[in-house]
Amino acid sequence: MTDLPIVYHSDYVAPLPQGHRFPMPKFRQLYELLLRNGVASVEQFQQPERPPRAWMELVHTAEYVQAYCDGTLDLKAQRRIGLPWSAALAQRTCVAVGGTVLTARLALRRMGLACNTAGGTHHAFPNYGSGFCIFNDLAIAARVLQSLGLAQKILIVDLDVHQGDGTAHIFQQDPHVFTFSMHCEVNFPGTKQHSDLDIPLPQGMEDEDYLKTLADNLPELLVDFRPDLVLYDAGVDPHLADRLGKLALTDTGLFRREMQVLGTCVAQGFPVACVIGGGYSDDLEALVYRHSLLHRAASDVYRQYKL
Ligand SMILES: [Zn+2]
Repeated sequence: MTDLPIVYHSDYVAPLPQGHRFPMPKFRQLYELLLRNGVASVEQFQQPERPPRAWMELVHTAEYVQAYCDGTLDLKAQRRIGLPWSAALAQRTCVAVGGTVLTARLALRRMGLACNTAGGTHHAFPNYGSGFCIFNDLAIAARVLQSLGLAQKILIVDLDVHQGDGTAHIFQQDPHVFTFSMHCEVNFPGTKQHSDLDIPLPQGMEDEDYLKTLADNLPELLVDFRPDLVLYDAGVDPHLADRLGKLALTDTGLFRREMQVLGTCVAQGFPVACVIGGGYSDDLEALVYRHSLLHRAASDVYRQYKL
């Protein structure tokens, strides 16, 4: 057991809208699994507040934020998001943004490492949502930290199997935020944006090739860019059993990936804030275990480096 700070929002247990297939209960199950397996204790979990709209407006247009929060977004825009609007979903979405900001602040405060049990909505653009993503929590966290003077240079490491297109677009002209996305080249989104570094991976890539590709890029990136903070999107959809993934990583491969990312950053003194990103499976238990690999690795790294 460690004191690794973990951010969790209990409203994730809220009931799903009718016909909702997105596995929202995974957040609650992840929290319970971490407790049950002794990865974390209740005291380690911190709960975020619903953030002010002004935070969302650091990235998104005021019109989009207002339409989403007030439930007046048109049906076409809701379909593009892929989730029907409800007051409960709007609340959860906003608090999840607060969660990623809190995770980032904890990582900086503890000079090391903190994890969210949600987050990673990287397909959200300034004026619309897409691919189950409503507000871009990674981009908002980066902007909030900058506006509070807590960090200036931020590296976003996006290892979700889908390109972080919204994030890439948002920071395209911003030299203070470096976007790095490693994703399956033939997967969603159909139209890719330009990250500062994109590594498109061939369909079916397995553990060893994937981990080598990561090792060939991340350490150098850290040395060259020297971020004040790393925001890490640890999507587990590169897993071979993922419904939307198209890559072929194993559980062991994912765990090694998390150890590699977190170990590399922490060993060099770069604080890391982690979000869980995407993961899609009808086997909820297996999926939740896959997400928990991030917290298990973070716990090991936290202990190893005595943060
Ligand atoms: Zn994804």
